[in-house]
Order: sequence, then C-alpha cells, then structure tokens
Amino acid sequence: MSRSAVWHPFTQHALEPALPTIVRTDGAYLESIDDRQILDAISSWWVVTHRHRHPAIVEAIRSTAEQLDQIIFAGFTHEPAVELAAALVAMAPAGLDWVFYSDSGSTSVEVALKMALGYFRHTDRPRSRVIVMEHSYHGDTIGAMSVGTRGVFNAAYEPLLFEVDTIPFPASGREQETLDAFELFTRDCNAAALIVEPLVLGAGGMRMYPARVLTELKRIAEASGTLFIADEVMTGWGRTGSLFACEQAGISPDILCTSKGLTGGAIPLAATLATDAIFQAHYAPDRSRTFFHSSSYTANPIACAAALANVRIWQDEPVMERIAALSRLQAEGAGRFAGDPRFAEVRVSGTIAAFELAVANPGYLAGIGPKLRAFFLERDLLVRPLGNVIYLLPPYCVSASELDRLHDAVDRAADLAGQAL
Ligand SMILES: *Cc1c(COP(=O)(O)O)cnc(C)c1O
Repeated sequence: MSRSAVWHPFTQHALEPALPTIVRTDGAYLESIDDRQILDAISSWWVVTHRHRHPAIVEAIRSTAEQLDQIIFAGFTHEPAVELAAALVAMAPAGLDWVFYSDSGSTSVEVALKMALGYFRHTDRPRSRVIVMEHSYHGDTIGAMSVGTRGVFNAAYEPLLFEVDTIPFPASGREQETLDAFELFTRDCNAAALIVEPLVLGAGGMRMYPARVLTELKRIAEASGTLFIADEVMTGWGRTGSLFACEQAGISPDILCTSKGLTGGAIPLAATLATDAIFQAHYAPDRSRTFFHSSSYTANPIACAAALANVRIWQDEPVMERIAALSRLQAEGAGRFAGDPRFAEVRVSGTIAAFELAVANPGYLAGIGPKLRAFFLERDLLVRPLGNVIYLLPPYCVSASELDRLHDAVDRAADLAGQAL
C-alpha cells in the first residue's frame, strides 16, 4: 500500500486512496496482497471474457514463449499470426478478408482511420471527413480522441484534435434524427467514413441503441460510398450477446476494430479487419501506396497464440450458451428495478447491464462516482461507475449467486446515492 513511482491511468492521484495490490487472479476474482477476494464485475476494464487465467490461454502463452518471442513483422511472418488471421476472417462478418495487427484498441482505431483515408487517396477520390456519433469513445491517442466525443477526457488536448462531423446519439424515439443527420453529412461526398460503436457506447455511459439503427446507418453509408467502421473493441467477443454486435444488425462493416477480448483478456493484441477493396487500393507496384503503419510489437507471436487459444475456446466450449444464460440473468436482475424512481434508466444489452442513477448532476464527473466505487470496493466488489451510471460487465464465468450479490449491492448503492443528495 506504500506510495510508488507509478502514474496510474484515469487516476487523480490527489484524491485516490491507497491502491490494493493484486497478487493473483482466478476466475472472476482478483486476490489482493491482504487476502481479499475481489469480484471483478467489470472484467478488468472490459477485457476479460471467459475468466481470468483460462488454462488454455495460459498454456498457449507458456508454450509459445518456449519457442518464439517478438519477431519483426515486415518481411517475415509466423504461424500464430497466419492461423489467427484465417480464423478471424472466418468468424467475422462476411467480406472482411484482411487482418492488420496492432496492440491496443486505440491503435486499431488509428489503423482503421488511416486505411479509410488511404483508400480514398489511392483511388483518386480524396475524401477526408470522418463522421462520428455523439457520446462515442474510441481510445486515447490523438486520432482516436479526435473521433471521440469532446469532453472532460480530452478538453486539454483539444488544439491537437482534428475536426469531425457529429451525428446525435440515437436516443429512444429520436432515431430518425440520427439517420437524417448522417444522410445530410454524406451529401457533399467528402465523407470518408462513419465510425461507430455498434449497439453500446461504452465509456460514453453504456448507452444502448437498437440494431435497426445500425442497419440503417450502414444502408446510408453504402448508398453514399462512405466507409463504415465498426469499433467492436468493447462489444466484440460476445459482450452484447453475439460474437460481434454487428451480427445483430445483419451488417458487414467495411472495417472492423477488435482488441479487448481478442486474447480472452490475457495479453494485449488488436486487429483491424478490412474488405478486399480497401486492401486493393493499397496494392500496387507503386511503393508510395504502401500502408505505412506499424508498431514494434505488431502481431506479437505470444499474443497471437493467446488469441488463437481464445478462438478455440469459442469453438470447443459452450461459450454462446454461457453468454445466453448470463444475458438472461442480467435481464432478470435489471427487471427488479423496473419503474424504480431511484434510476433514470436501467438498460441491458446481452451480458452488459447499466443502471443510470437519477441524480441532479449527471455525467462522468458526477460527485457520486467515486463514492460509489468506494462503496462497492468496501464490499470486495470491483465496480467502477461512469459518473452516475453503475454498470455490470462481468466475465462469462460469473455465477448466478455472484450476480445476485452484485444486483443486491446495486440496490443498496442506489439508496446511498439517494442519501448523498
Ligand atoms: C477501450 C476502447 C478503445 C481503446 O482501447 P485501448 O486498448 O484502451 O486503447 C477503443 N474503442 C472502444 C469502443 C473501447 O471501448
């Protein structure tokens, strides 16, 4: 618990209490140095899918490390990357035929944006505008911040961010406004791409919208020749009830970003999948058309092997059944708060449940946020509200009784929020 030299992410050190030191993870739990068993109700920031330390993923990491470490990925290849790419193409929505590796969700988004701009430049139709959705979040690098909603996360860096066109969030009953705004932005034929988080806007407060909006957005994109980028970094790998959220809308994006759950949440890896048309725009004897992007650890073999083990878990274990069962439990748990005046809204998408507290000052910096986090942690529950939005996004191994415990805690937390006002 002593002070360290570590500068933590999204952490205001002037306010943060001592950080628990975690010495071991297992299943849905983090074990602290002082023997606390903390239930990880947010999958350690949305990365862990099946469970912490799934034996097959641990074994893939161990055995690959005996044979391969990082190798340069320009001019060389390796089996884990090739096999994983084939598996991703087979599992992803149809038409995504190429896989570009990087190491985080943010870089997968940067790659997607560069692919989109490169596509138009190299086919001599220089479109350059990117259209984004209100409240969206796509990562913390400059490009990813630029296509994310402006706000407290990025206000200090505003001078560095490029301009985008923003369509309103498709709030219930106002979906048509979103579609109309998008249609309008595509009219001047300068729209290179629309980037969206399909079905659930994560960091923007676990805001959810129906699949038919996605279907319509894709239709408008196609009609106007605007590329459709699906940022499935959070929604991918089962979170919303299907392997990828786009499936529920029956659409294939032109570009798909995946990261968090790609290795089952064990080690970092990201992939940006693209259509053949986008690849072909970069394919030419002319070297200036090369896709100029790389990071040192591109396609790390150990990470690719972990992802391949994850893919096999999806093939060999009843993952979809587990997700369906968890989704049902989440819906039931949320159901008990239906019409409860302590909440402005309770919503569920697949395995994700969000409980938006009715407070006077909502938003990410809502005063209640840190109090709620402390309230849960005192009860050995890792829950990290987004301002006044409490959400549960657990690994798929979580049991019915553990979920009950979480829903009970949400109930009591809502009382606390009521008293704090
Ligand atoms: C987390 C997230 C990112 C950024 O991923 P990092 O690995 O943190 O860089 C991008 N897009 C979405 C939708 C995310 O939820």
